[in-house]
Amino acid sequence: MPHDTALAELASFLGDRLSRSKPEREAHGRSETWFPETPPDAVAYPETTEEVSRIVATCARLGCPVTAWGTGTSLEGHALAVRGGVSLDMSRMNRVLSIRAEDMQAVVQPGLTREALNTDLRATGLMFSVDPGADASLGGMAATRASGTTSVRYGTMRDNVMGLEVVLADGRVIRTGSGARKSSAGYDLTGLFVGSEGTLGIITELTLKLHGQPEAISAAVCAFDDFESAVRTVIATIQMGIPMARIEFVDETGAAVFNAANGTDLPEKPHLMVEFHGSDLSAAEDAKRFGEIVAEMGGAHFDWATTTEDRSRLWKMRHGAYPACLAFRPGSMGLVTDICVPISRLAEAVRETRADIAESGLTGPIIGHVGDGNFHSVLLIERGNAAELKTAKALAHRMAERALRLGGTITGEHGVGMGKKDLMEMEHGEAWEVMARIKRALDPDGILNPGKVVEVSQ
Ligand SMILES: Cc1cc2nc3c(=O)[nH]c(=O)nc-3n(C[C@H](O)[C@H](O)[C@H](O)COP(=O)(O)OP(=O)(O)OC[C@H]3O[C@@H](n4cnc5c(N)ncnc54)[C@H](O)[C@@H]3O)c2cc1C
Repeated sequence: MPHDTALAELASFLGDRLSRSKPEREAHGRSETWFPETPPDAVAYPETTEEVSRIVATCARLGCPVTAWGTGTSLEGHALAVRGGVSLDMSRMNRVLSIRAEDMQAVVQPGLTREALNTDLRATGLMFSVDPGADASLGGMAATRASGTTSVRYGTMRDNVMGLEVVLADGRVIRTGSGARKSSAGYDLTGLFVGSEGTLGIITELTLKLHGQPEAISAAVCAFDDFESAVRTVIATIQMGIPMARIEFVDETGAAVFNAANGTDLPEKPHLMVEFHGSDLSAAEDAKRFGEIVAEMGGAHFDWATTTEDRSRLWKMRHGAYPACLAFRPGSMGLVTDICVPISRLAEAVRETRADIAESGLTGPIIGHVGDGNFHSVLLIERGNAAELKTAKALAHRMAERALRLGGTITGEHGVGMGKKDLMEMEHGEAWEVMARIKRALDPDGILNPGKVVEVSQ
């Protein structure tokens, strides 16, 4: 077995927290999307930074790959140990280390999930805002530079991670950032590790920015006869400076998916789902001004979610979009696209993508965080149907080209992993080679999540 020496050494200090059992390897070899199963050689469950450091140092010395695993919800095969070695499951490092309410910060371990953090914060009047739908780990969210429905108001992981503790590829432990709201002290290493997908270091602690829980929330869903009117509504709302906390687009296929999964009777038309946060007065005023824009753009079927239960039903439906899409075509798997364009080009990007999907013959509901210019199509592929997978990949490639032509990016929030690696040169040109140099400088033996983000010849 390759890496036997490294695994034996790891077992000597991890004991039964190094597992080579088939079920555990398989559980860490699956992804949420279309990537083939790739079990690692073993799964390690560290409990402290010192253990992570010792595992990584041992693996570096013996040439054994280490791929961090948060909750495994990433969509581009990020957490799969494609070159074998150890899957480093961070779930036992899941504590809130401190909540500094007066500074609106929390210090947490990487295996803590965002929902668990928010449960802990409930009594403090504070919240952690980044909400990718899945109950992902905060380490995984930092590693993918995740965002979600509320990022239009509160920012992405880039904006909400203030500092990190990181184990480097040789086992050294460093700290980046500080508790200060700003700093000019040299290179922004926090920014470098956020979004590095476990290829530059293992995050063992995060200092996160918190926000006040809103005093009042109003949410609504409204339908439009055509998607252009929905997009024009988004642009007008942004230009008028109405502070949306969420603004999500769902096309007519998406509405049909929601109806099928939730027993709702949304008209099968494009929709916007919105939410406003503020005081009683400001949330009501924002909602009223938004309603006026919708009316002007010809929107109808305006439905306010007035109670907390109505609101959670609304967002549960939105967050359940991915499984609902898969259920819409039984026996399917998803290829989830993720382009992001400047808001002024959003209508063009959606229009061209809709035509492309229609021509491909695939079913692909479009759903997105349109306030950020970010949208996804969940391309539903019959399991095992190689021709459909090829069609979907070609369509995803054209979407990425479209995003770049319109001044955007190949991935707004899901990240690169394996699935988008081949598109990186197209987006970054020479800058992708600079990324590879950074990788070589920080991980010269290529042991950290090899095969992802950058191409480095060993
Ligand atoms: C239904 C559904 C909806 C989603 N919606 C969104 C969305 O709206 N927005 C969005 O951004 N994403 C979304 N995602 C994708 C996914 O939830 C995010 O990418 C999330 O950030 C992944 O976190 P995770 O804990 O599952 O990480 P994993 O999948 O376990 O790992 C992701 C990457 O991070 C690395 N990693 C994990 N932990 C660490 C660590 N401690 N140190 C260093 N590297 C580490 C892994 O090696 C891997 O490369 C969605 C996924 C699903 C299934």
